[in-house]
Amino acid sequence: MLTCDILDCHNAPVRCSIAMGCCHRRLCSKHQSPPFHDCPKSEDDWDAFCKAFVKTETGELVALQQRIRHIQLANVASSLRNNIPCTIPALVAATANRCKLSKMMGGMNVHLDILFDDHVVWLARIQRTTAVTPPPVVQNHILLSEFATLKYLNCIGVPTPAVHGYGLTVDSNGVDVNYILMDKLQAFPLEWYDLGPDQRRRVLHQLANIFITLDRHSFRQTGSIIQPHASIGAFADRVIFEPNYYQKLNLLGPFTSLRQHLDHTINCNLRLIEYSEWAVDDPVTSYLIYRTLLDAYPRILPAESMDNEIFCLRHQDDKGDHILVNDQLDIIGIIDWEWSKVVAKSFAFAAPLMLLPLAFDEGSNLLSQDEEELARIFDSLGRPDMALCVRHGRAYHRISFILDNGDRPEACKPHMKGLFQLLGNDCWEWETWRSDALRMYQSEHTLQVLLDNEVMH
Ligand SMILES: [Zn+2]
Ligand SMILES: [Zn+2]
Repeated sequence: MLTCDILDCHNAPVRCSIAMGCCHRRLCSKHQSPPFHDCPKSEDDWDAFCKAFVKTETGELVALQQRIRHIQLANVASSLRNNIPCTIPALVAATANRCKLSKMMGGMNVHLDILFDDHVVWLARIQRTTAVTPPPVVQNHILLSEFATLKYLNCIGVPTPAVHGYGLTVDSNGVDVNYILMDKLQAFPLEWYDLGPDQRRRVLHQLANIFITLDRHSFRQTGSIIQPHASIGAFADRVIFEPNYYQKLNLLGPFTSLRQHLDHTINCNLRLIEYSEWAVDDPVTSYLIYRTLLDAYPRILPAESMDNEIFCLRHQDDKGDHILVNDQLDIIGIIDWEWSKVVAKSFAFAAPLMLLPLAFDEGSNLLSQDEEELARIFDSLGRPDMALCVRHGRAYHRISFILDNGDRPEACKPHMKGLFQLLGNDCWEWETWRSDALRMYQSEHTLQVLLDNEVMH
């Protein structure tokens, strides 16, 4: 069980939607602020923040280099390829080569090249440990789910790197980190916003066909794909698992309807707020956001979609650079399937985030030209059902943005505006909503407790 990094504190650390701090300490709501936690804040002192950030990252990389046993990891890779020898250059340097390592570093994973003697190159994708890292059991579930998801995608013919093996810290192979071994694709991340209309159409056509393949291999449950045979297990999610009741971890799902999925997820958010493990900056407003969403979502989704039983895989970070392409814009592979979820079909095929227009962030629900184009492509491929998922995709986008950002009310404002627009309320105002919601839910025990705490501070 994960507890606060302050000595002798047994509280659970706060879960965050984004990595904010410049240290990697996991702190509870009580110890998150000064004098216990006095790291420089980016908004107060940018230079000091950057300095501290670089120091933390360097420390992490040096520790990682010391922790991964080069010989063991190379041996594991070698044994998976008929004992062809290999080396992992980043790990044999005399000191951690910070520039080189951090280039391969994403928010959640570090990627190391594995070079075989016959010039084949693999990647070791290694989970990082930072302030937003969940407990080991959840980390392990996320890794196993990503591995199983990549296997499933390989198997149904969606372009992804082939995976060769994985390891968990708890395994006795001596590698001592969570990792997945996969092919390194010779391709570049898609730069969607630099493409002209014809180039975009070319990519969208390929994406549409990939989505049709995913639809053809649908599931009867919602959750995340797990070992061993593309069966559905609990959601692989960094934030959404039950608070630490009785020192036991309780992941969410799988479920058999979108209604169950959303009810359980939103209620879990509300309980996390109650237990001060989520949304600790302004818990009252965050509570009202989730409470409002719980009542509002059934009114913006068609009834038939809530109890239907078709679920498909959706990438959770489809901002564009998850697609690797060659010079001709052929999709060579789609990467970063961490946290991917099998969700209701209407959610799975709402447009990828890279197609959303700028006005989306201001609360507008109008579709972008790219979304219209994707819908037309589905129509031309004889798939009006998929076109409909794109045209009605805003309900998904607003719900998922509110779910993910509800711990930061300010970031939620445009999405709440968009949500109410979908409910037919075009002149919605944040302040009016907040005071109405306070009145509407005032009898709820959790809200009363949160309001009392607010008075005390
Ligand atoms: Zn800090
Ligand atoms: Zn604490």
